[in-house]
Amino acid sequence: MTDSPARGKLFLVGIGPGGLDHMTTRARAAIAQADTLIGHATYLRLVAALVTNQEVVKSTMTQELDRAVLAVELAQAGRTVALISSGDSGVYGMAGLTFEVLFQAGWTPDTGVPVEIVPGATALTSCAALAGAPLSHDFCAISLSDLLTPWPVIARRLNAAAAADFVVALYNPKSGRRARQVIEAQRLFLCHRCPTTPVALVHAAYRPQQRVELTTLADLGAGEIGMLTTILIGNSQTRVHHGLMVTPRGYAQKYDLQAGTTKAGERGGHPLTSGLAGWLAEVRASGETVTDLAKRYGLPEPYMAAALAASDPEAPSPG
Ligand code: SAH
Repeated sequence: MTDSPARGKLFLVGIGPGGLDHMTTRARAAIAQADTLIGHATYLRLVAALVTNQEVVKSTMTQELDRAVLAVELAQAGRTVALISSGDSGVYGMAGLTFEVLFQAGWTPDTGVPVEIVPGATALTSCAALAGAPLSHDFCAISLSDLLTPWPVIARRLNAAAAADFVVALYNPKSGRRARQVIEAQRLFLCHRCPTTPVALVHAAYRPQQRVELTTLADLGAGEIGMLTTILIGNSQTRVHHGLMVTPRGYAQKYDLQAGTTKAGERGGHPLTSGLAGWLAEVRASGETVTDLAKRYGLPEPYMAAALAASDPEAPSPG
């Protein structure tokens, strides 16, 4: 009887922002269990203290595809491979690319080598923790890297996020060859937001070179920005107090924060009077046309028309 080859496994490991303190227990276990570690040299340095007898395969940043292919091949050959990403493997990391490689090779979750994604703290939450609490309201992430994404696509997303008043985390803001993207992003944001909007430049979070700089949208370009910087741009409500950048959660809309009392017309635990039900009642009672309402609220006419036409969503459905 011949031994069938040992069944391999592929871990897609997010190691968090840098220091071992911010790595999950599961990430450590995956690295301990692996016989092969693959990653960019910087990330492998960050986990060097966890290496025992694993084979370590270093590669440069531009060899992402090679890394994914190699990881898949070795796992399929029976190795237990940990493919290391910084932050979260699924956020501008190796997870998506690896699945693309797997799918092309005919892999399925039921028949192929087991794959486990180990989530990690991504740069935006790590950097936010150092800046204060800037992500306490709706936010999004946009990468300024045009290595794989056309600039008009990036510019439209920047513009939409700026117009919609999202707090925005900009990943990959700058590299040796890409310096102008940040300035273009600033220009787009200034079309929608005040020059005094708070901005945090967080560099190398939780690594020895860590640096946090609080600035404004107007002065963004003067800040020190590099490959390892994440830029957090506040929304229209974000403020800086005592060196901490904080975006209000919205409690002040409903409560008097000093007295701890509820504002007139509002009820704790219930939607705002301007929540969906209250707003629908208001637009229905207004008697205004769909076109006027759509313009007033910045919403598409088909949506506005449907909202007016629909029966009260809070009412019990017949039958
Ligand atoms: N998978 C990673 C992101 C990789 S893209 C994650 O989830 O965090 C690389 C970009 O991430 C960098 O250009 C920078 O914008 C950001 N980044 C990664 N690590 C960082 C750190 N320790 N401090 C600040 N920004 C970081």
